[in-house]
Amino acid sequence: MFSKVVPWKRITSRWYNSSGTAVILRNASSSSGGEQQFDLVVIGSGPGGYVAAIKAAQLGLKTACVEKSATYGGTCLNVGCIPSKAMLHNSHLYHLAQHGELKKRGIEVQNVALNLPVFMKQKDDAVKGLTAGVAYLFKSNKVTGIRGYGSVSAPGQVTVKKDDGSNEVLKAKNILLAVGSEVTPFPGIDIDEEAIVSSTGALSLKQVPKKMVLIGAGVIGLELGSVWSRLGAEVTCVEYLSHIGGVGIDMEVSKAFQKILAKQGLKFKLDTKVIGAQKSGGNISVNVEGAKGGNNETLDCDTVLVCIGRRPFTKDLGLEGVGVKLDQRGRIEVDKNFQTSCKGVYAIGDCIQGPMLAHKAEDEGIICVEGIATGHEPHIDYNCVPSVIYTFPEVSWIGKSEEQLKQEGVKFKVGKFPMAANSRAKTINEPEGFVKVLADAKTDRILGVHIINSVAGELINEAALAMEYGASSEDVARVCHAHPTWSESFKEANLHASFGKAINFS
Ligand SMILES: Cc1cc2nc3c(=O)[nH]c(=O)nc-3n(C[C@H](O)[C@H](O)[C@H](O)COP(=O)(O)OP(=O)(O)OC[C@H]3O[C@@H](n4cnc5c(N)ncnc54)[C@H](O)[C@@H]3O)c2cc1C
Repeated sequence: MFSKVVPWKRITSRWYNSSGTAVILRNASSSSGGEQQFDLVVIGSGPGGYVAAIKAAQLGLKTACVEKSATYGGTCLNVGCIPSKAMLHNSHLYHLAQHGELKKRGIEVQNVALNLPVFMKQKDDAVKGLTAGVAYLFKSNKVTGIRGYGSVSAPGQVTVKKDDGSNEVLKAKNILLAVGSEVTPFPGIDIDEEAIVSSTGALSLKQVPKKMVLIGAGVIGLELGSVWSRLGAEVTCVEYLSHIGGVGIDMEVSKAFQKILAKQGLKFKLDTKVIGAQKSGGNISVNVEGAKGGNNETLDCDTVLVCIGRRPFTKDLGLEGVGVKLDQRGRIEVDKNFQTSCKGVYAIGDCIQGPMLAHKAEDEGIICVEGIATGHEPHIDYNCVPSVIYTFPEVSWIGKSEEQLKQEGVKFKVGKFPMAANSRAKTINEPEGFVKVLADAKTDRILGVHIINSVAGELINEAALAMEYGASSEDVARVCHAHPTWSESFKEANLHASFGKAINFS
């Protein structure tokens, strides 16, 4: 069995000197002449960039953050995580009221109706509050926020093009590219953000579609498809792969997930590819065929949601001029310190390789600037970056799936616990789903955790903590968990993995 890692040792080796004192750099440069001088200029204020800028300032670096949009926060706060979660939550409440779920619980609500403008306003208010919060944090941490389009005009120099056409030149000891990503277009289908929308347009439709065709049943597609389905649209999801939920999802979870979503009314066409779409009046005909050809079909709808992924956004950044290399997929190439092929220019988040997730961008931002400030080598375990789909129920996972472990020839044991046997889930009548723990057959170390239940997005963080500290399934099974809680299902799945038996289920 794996013993627990002693936490102070790890922290000591990374960010503290031998006497245990935190290593902090003070301001290394100051303003001079007409050009502003910084220790670090961050381009992009998404979760990667703004978090990195704040951390850098906290570490004593004189820091600026350049943002081309009117508000801070990037994709995540403006057109990603935040607005989508507001809409998922509120559409879930509407669905509960509309479909008799509240009535079953003795709560009688008459004349349930959707007020879409108010629904959208709550989402917009959440976005406004949080983006303004970044501006406040910049001020309180003494990060200089600069509005404009940034580019690397020379090593150690960022030029910011302002809306009025003027340029501002910033001298920078270090430059961090946190420029994020943009929607991947679908060849031959023009996104007008009204009838044919990307995830961005799907966050502000003016009316509930009657029929929506969703191209791509990955994480973002399923979340937004769920929103509009709950609000009344008939949603058909067309997916090229043979499963839903995107890359990394465990197949057992994916199958259970699809069944649940189908019960909620979503329709699925798997192993199917879209080959084109034509608009005529208010109707859109979407032509599809089998992934391997044949089975041609036309799906009629009034709204198409294109969700086939995102691609790095590196337009007009001046990268060629300073020798920053991109990989074949247009991502900025970095070394283990997040440094690009140009010395002093770093990159993190969606614009480099790895999962396109806000928390991955944040963590990379923090360790990258810690590396710049302290000289320590950054470390991140990408195997311990959790993924979440915020549908109802939620789906989450971390580490390896069964399929990956089999492919890698790793011997493992499975611990499972159904939510139907969890007292909290039963008490509030949300018994769908399960927790699945994959542990090394010999050492008992946890290798992967896969969850489908009402609070999977919260529960996965306990798994992340356990895996970061190299816990065995017995370690978790022996931790006292409060009762009655959802997290007892994680403990029970670990009991099952380590001892072959859970307590509350056989
Ligand atoms: C609908 C949707 C839902 C999502 N939900 C989740 C979720 O629930 N959880 C999750 O973890 N992830 C989610 N994501 C993904 C998440 O939003 C991204 O992974 C995350 O925002 C990446 O952060 P970033 O800082 O790398 O880039 P971004 O957030 O894309 O920020 C980049 C910033 O750089 C700015 N910029 C770019 N170029 C320049 C330039 N030259 N000059 C100045 N500024 C520039 C951009 O304007 C932008 O503000 C979602 C995405 C979408 C679209």
